[in-house]
Amino acid sequence: MSQVYIARCAGYEREQVQRAVRRAVDALGGMRRYVRPGDNVLIKPNLLVASAPEAAVTTHPEVLRAAIELVQAAGGMVWVGDSPGFGNPIKVAEKSGLAEICRETGAVLRDFGEADEAGFADGVICKRFTLARPVREADVVISLAKLKTHGLTLYTGAMKNLFGCISGLNKSQMHLRFQQREDFAGMLVDLYSLVKPALSIVDGVVGMEGEGPRNGRPRPIGVILAGADAVAVDAVGATIIGLDPLAVPTTRIAHARGVGQGDPARIEMLGDPLAEAVVPDYKHSAAADPARRGWFARLAPLLREQLTARPFIHVDKCQGCGVCRNSCPPSAISIEAGKARIDETRCIRCYCCQELCPEGAVELRKSWLARRLVRA
Ligand code: SF4
Ligand code: SF4
Repeated sequence: MSQVYIARCAGYEREQVQRAVRRAVDALGGMRRYVRPGDNVLIKPNLLVASAPEAAVTTHPEVLRAAIELVQAAGGMVWVGDSPGFGNPIKVAEKSGLAEICRETGAVLRDFGEADEAGFADGVICKRFTLARPVREADVVISLAKLKTHGLTLYTGAMKNLFGCISGLNKSQMHLRFQQREDFAGMLVDLYSLVKPALSIVDGVVGMEGEGPRNGRPRPIGVILAGADAVAVDAVGATIIGLDPLAVPTTRIAHARGVGQGDPARIEMLGDPLAEAVVPDYKHSAAADPARRGWFARLAPLLREQLTARPFIHVDKCQGCGVCRNSCPPSAISIEAGKARIDETRCIRCYCCQELCPEGAVELRKSWLARRLVRA
């Protein structure tokens, strides 16, 4: 039975976080269960964009410190790395505070710019990935995720965090190849099966609600989650923020494929009680509503154009920086008179623009029909 440890953790004081992470890992058998002396251990945090820790976009530096110290105590050599959604990886690591933690602990910040092709015959919808070289070279991978809402996948935690194992612009190619939410989630499940982190730790001390993963609001949740089965860890994370775990496409697909356990009733929960961790009235992404309705989800393929939220540019907030244009997989965005403009005929609804806009100028808007059906 998959085990998930729930450790209440009220803030990011160093000792507080160390205690919570250690408690979780010890209860799961101790770090030596996952790491052998001399192993090269890649810790993969969420480094989406250059953002200060208090914005709750990236994994908090103290959670990284706690994980590094446990791996080092088990005799592992620690590498840290991620391929951000946008921006220079070194600058992103500096701004998020993670580079400083690497310097203080002696962990090596690895470059995710160099990549190798990795065939994956067992992939259900994706059999080839362009993985950052350290992912291939590591003996052990640990997913060190941030708990957030997400416009495309509804929830981002242990599994979605691994998307950053795909190097640089190859991530945009994945958005182009897998344009529908279900296909994209299916690709993420293949990626999880390929990378297969030995352990997942999720920073949910302060998560993000609303229009995550970048432009939502920080929301205290007060938990660190950990487990060897990332599917189970995400199922517990989704439950804590009031999402049906099996409405989260990555969890549902992984559960259906037998990759992991997505049903909370079949997960052994350790540590603090789940009921005490659940946050009432947690705000989800506007894109989440349709997928939470069973009959609605079945109709969705027929009505996709009408039911899928569209990105909308708030010109008053837009600074014309071009981040969205540069990250739009089908090049559907242009900058005209200093403002972003979307060519709707080319938009594939991947929501990269909403995910990465530094000004929060991209809103996901549901159509009139989608709003009516959700209210029904
Ligand atoms: S919408 Fe956002 S990312 Fe795009 S140009 Fe405007 S400010 Fe920049
Ligand atoms: S406009 Fe936004 S949602 Fe549409 S394809 Fe481009 S990045 Fe994706």
